[in-house]
Amino acid sequence: IQKQPRELLIESKFEERGSAILEEIQRNFSLRITRARSHYFQHDNAVRFLLDHFGILQLDGLGLNGKIATINATAALLSYLKDHQQNIEPIRVLQIETLTDHLLIDHRTDRHLHISSSLLSFLDTTVTGMGGRLFKEVLEKPLIESSGIIDRQVMTQALMKKPLVVAEISKILERVHDLERILYRLHFCAASTKELLLIHSSLKAVEQLVPLFVHFKCDESKKLIGALPDFSSLIHLLDYELEIPSVSGATDRIFKKGVHPQIDALRDFSMKGDQWLIEYQERLKLELDIKTLKVSFTRAFGYYIEVSRAQSNKIPESFIRRQTLVQQERYITKELQEFEEKCLFAEDTLKKLEENALRFLIERVLKELPLLKKIAQSVAWIDVYTAFVRIAQKEGYVCPKILHQGPFVIEEGRHPLVETLMPYKSFIPNSLCLNDTNRLALITGPNMGGKSTYIRQSALIILMAQMGCFVPAKRVELVPFDRIFSRIGAHDDLYRGQSTFMVEMAETAEILNNLTYRSFVILDEIGRGTSTYDGISIAWSVLEFLAQSVKKPRTLFATHYSELTDCMGEIEGVFNLKVLVKESLSGILFSYKLVEGSTDKSYGIHVAKLAGLPPQIISRAMDILKTYEKQRSSKPVQKGCSLKEQIVIF
Ligand code: ATP
Repeated sequence: IQKQPRELLIESKFEERGSAILEEIQRNFSLRITRARSHYFQHDNAVRFLLDHFGILQLDGLGLNGKIATINATAALLSYLKDHQQNIEPIRVLQIETLTDHLLIDHRTDRHLHISSSLLSFLDTTVTGMGGRLFKEVLEKPLIESSGIIDRQVMTQALMKKPLVVAEISKILERVHDLERILYRLHFCAASTKELLLIHSSLKAVEQLVPLFVHFKCDESKKLIGALPDFSSLIHLLDYELEIPSVSGATDRIFKKGVHPQIDALRDFSMKGDQWLIEYQERLKLELDIKTLKVSFTRAFGYYIEVSRAQSNKIPESFIRRQTLVQQERYITKELQEFEEKCLFAEDTLKKLEENALRFLIERVLKELPLLKKIAQSVAWIDVYTAFVRIAQKEGYVCPKILHQGPFVIEEGRHPLVETLMPYKSFIPNSLCLNDTNRLALITGPNMGGKSTYIRQSALIILMAQMGCFVPAKRVELVPFDRIFSRIGAHDDLYRGQSTFMVEMAETAEILNNLTYRSFVILDEIGRGTSTYDGISIAWSVLEFLAQSVKKPRTLFATHYSELTDCMGEIEGVFNLKVLVKESLSGILFSYKLVEGSTDKSYGIHVAKLAGLPPQIISRAMDILKTYEKQRSSKPVQKGCSLKEQIVIF
């Protein structure tokens, strides 16, 4: 609604989950659906409301056929806006987006991966308001259709080859104002000359963008600029009519001289009026011999002649006293009164004429609304593409290869955010290859070893690749995914009556119940919030479920339950990755390098020491650990045993 005020965008992704829709709407739109409004969720009421609003006899034409939850949600949302004094009349179009259009990233994954909070502000270097909004949309809705991603890549690559052109484009974009918002104000609010002037200067800038794109022959460029209808007549119209203020100063004229003769005549009159006032004042000073006499104006009293009280005896009887102040007397004369009437009349007429002429000009500009919207969209995309180029060049990103089939490969991938927090080039890149045979990586390694960073960076690389953006790696190849799922960290949701472990399990359940044939799943520490036996058992069976699912999700599974790795050779599709650590007498050295294999050491006590736990606690913990390790090594792990026998706990 904020983005495109004339269109209401309803995501129908919750269509199948009718019961969740209310909750989802409340969260996404920060609405409080009161009991009074909730009756719109009753289907009959919702249908009646929408038929009435759109003035139609059936909803099929709006693409709402059979979409019960969407119909109810739309009616509830519109009624909410209406109740809150929003003008919903202009909302005449519904754009329905379905689950299959984009890579789905639920809000939890968004939060875990810091997508909207940090990644957006890091990647988004757009300079226009509409570019910024589009960038956010592109980030929130990565594509799953290869051809769309490749089109974006081709455009970005073409721009990358012409850095001077990109620099020029960036400079021009800075002069383009937020056309979408301006058009909204022009259409719905009391518009002023300001909006027209901003449109004018923006169009002048866009005019300079057009020739820069003739070099680019790709489809996307043709779509952006090549397909733009000629808008020179619009610039010409505004150029011809509007008084364009110079850089040095503002002007109080709206229209150029010669465009509206009546307006010119009245403006001349008011200019002459100023001159008449000066002359009248000088004349009175001489005639009355009062050097300090002033002719002035206030909104409350109009024009007046002001003299000091001491001089008021020189004022003739024909002058009418208007106001007495402590030190001054104010008068009016018949002559001045006539002048005032003429002035007020002229001012009033001038205001009306200018308002009418302005409204007429706005109407003519609004006739070109579709064209202006198209220009705004093109500018937004150009802005997004130049932002893609900027980030790729600055951070050394590469263009991922989009495949129709094959493995998911990341060679020397980096975390886009973590690497920027470190000294230059000190981030250690890591690779990944997931395919049908090796589809679930079980990752073990020390605390602070870089496991979470690794699994998060893999998900972010997918997201960025499917936005059409370049990625932080040496090489990436992927078949687009349709969902990214994540289960990371520990937090509770006390307000919804959920403990930390309950949240963990609810999130895991949601992933397992909603897997698709192109899902990418990252799981960091499953089963940590309960007893060790329960935790390992759950982690184990979740892992088995994912590995054996017919949907074959590509999965990164980080855990400290090294016991899981001992038995995983038995499950098809699972392979082990571990973080390398160097041990020395003074402690451990993190290499942040992932290699094939598994480890049974978490080095938790070393990390606790680094975190500043008191020395006596560290040394006592070391003693306890040694005792447990002795017990553990006396019980060898055997393949093919029951779960309880396999898990060798302290
Ligand atoms: P834990 O098991 O305790 O959750 P972890 O193995 O998940 O730890 P991370 O949280 O991923 O470890 O990483 C800890 C820190 O290590 C990061 O905040 C970052 O500073 C650093 N780090 C992680 N990966 C790398 C890397 N590839 N190169 C350099 N530094 C890294």
